[in-house]
Amino acid sequence: MADSVNPSHALFDSFVQAQTCKETQQNFIELCRHLKVEPRDYKHFYSKLKDRLNYWKAKDLWQKIDKRAAHPDYEQGQACHQNKCLVLGAGPCGLRTAIELALLGTQVAVLDKRVSFSRNNVLHLWPYTIRDLLNLGAKKFYGRFCSGSIHHISIRQLQLILLKVALILGVEVHTGVTFEGLLEPSGSTGWRAQVSPGSHRAAAFEFDVFISAGGGRYVPDGFKIKELRGKLAIGITANFVNRRTKQEAQVQEISGVARIYNQKFFQALHSEIGVDLENIVYYKDDTHYFVMTAKKGSLLKKGVIKQDFPDVNQLLAPANVNQKALEEYAYDAADFSTDHMLPDLEFARDHAGRPDVAMFDFTCMHRAENASLVKERKGKRLLIALVGDSLVEPFWPLGTGIARGFLAAFDTAWMVRNWGKGGLPLELLAERESMYQLLSQTTPENISKNYASYSINPSTRYPNISMSSIKPTQVIHTVLDRN
Ligand code: FAD
Repeated sequence: MADSVNPSHALFDSFVQAQTCKETQQNFIELCRHLKVEPRDYKHFYSKLKDRLNYWKAKDLWQKIDKRAAHPDYEQGQACHQNKCLVLGAGPCGLRTAIELALLGTQVAVLDKRVSFSRNNVLHLWPYTIRDLLNLGAKKFYGRFCSGSIHHISIRQLQLILLKVALILGVEVHTGVTFEGLLEPSGSTGWRAQVSPGSHRAAAFEFDVFISAGGGRYVPDGFKIKELRGKLAIGITANFVNRRTKQEAQVQEISGVARIYNQKFFQALHSEIGVDLENIVYYKDDTHYFVMTAKKGSLLKKGVIKQDFPDVNQLLAPANVNQKALEEYAYDAADFSTDHMLPDLEFARDHAGRPDVAMFDFTCMHRAENASLVKERKGKRLLIALVGDSLVEPFWPLGTGIARGFLAAFDTAWMVRNWGKGGLPLELLAERESMYQLLSQTTPENISKNYASYSINPSTRYPNISMSSIKPTQVIHTVLDRN
């Protein structure tokens, strides 16, 4: 009963249950105002919030956060207490990195140009990421998180969970702010970001660590990108409304079938409805989510792609795609592959209110040549690191984005820890590159199974790792602009 009469408890409940980015931020501000805790006092914010809230429903969350924060790697928030970090991107990897840096004691500001979390698409989670998110209190924020054999989550739900944890740890998250570039130090001012709107207070934030987690193909100056060109691969994602009926509950998920493992199914799909696929995945989450790789011939035949072009950008250009035909193609694939058992298939809506079906090119995948570099101007050093999709673009049907994204987030946090402790730039960059070399080969099988002992220290996650396979002399080119 006490819960409903104490306004701060009600505000905390609203914050925990908030289902949009905006609602989360608003409830958080109101909660802070009510408890008279200042989020900008990032060093003491979490402990003050905890002390002043005094609410039994929050206790299990505090226990989890306290347990994580007590890990010796963080040195009780002292490891990086003099560092300031700007994170570009409030996607899952930017937020996950921000959380680790906050635990290390860094002052962290996150920028995102979007004001809402709207991606319905569903991400596959490796067992370690499930454990990691449970340890951060994911179940508290999202009761359905990975119950039973479910090992996936929608991108928007994952962002919401991480945003809430980040805010609790004193991370400043600015949405609706676009990062335009880095501003070099001048006079007594250090490294800053050029942002729009230019009047936003994030423009005044000075930092010595910059994490670029802008997703997709966003890569800051100084980094080189490798293109891995494979054979033509056209991905389609589609989301349908999940009404959570008994009938829907009975439909089997498809955790990933590739053509070579089930020729019969793919042949029937092709001959009966003209949909020709390389693979398909179906997850029952907040939506019924499908991701598939389709063959060009069938897309042309079905009128999804209007005209054939050798260049994939021209081929998949919006003007060359018939959206209605794409909807029909995805609908037919979803209906057939679930044995027509999903009743009344209706497209969920995307951020613009349109049926949530989209086509993507996976022919050419990008990865950064280096994971990090150091810039020095006017005697002021800046450590720059890439995480998430901007480091290595994932192939969605394989669902590696979050698993490898979080590994890189932890490895990056480990590097920032060494930076905060005064490590030599060449040594910490070389160590980071040694980890990065392993990233694309990681699988759920070859990383450590001892998830309970996972920390930002790479040796807890990669068995038999050599942290010095790359030597400082091999990364000299990643220390830039000494002057
Ligand atoms: P993202 O989640 O892409 O986040 C990057 C953030 O940076 C965004 O919020 C963006 O607004 C922000 N940003 C970018 N540039 C700027 C700037 N200049 N200023 C301020 N903010 C900026 N993976 C799958 O496995 N399956 C899927 O079906 C799937 N669907 C996807 C659909 C879309 C539309 C996108 C973009 C990605 C999808 N992914 C999918 C990839 C998956 O979302 C990522 O692997 C995962 O979210 C981790 O990415 P991230 O945090 O590195 O980047």
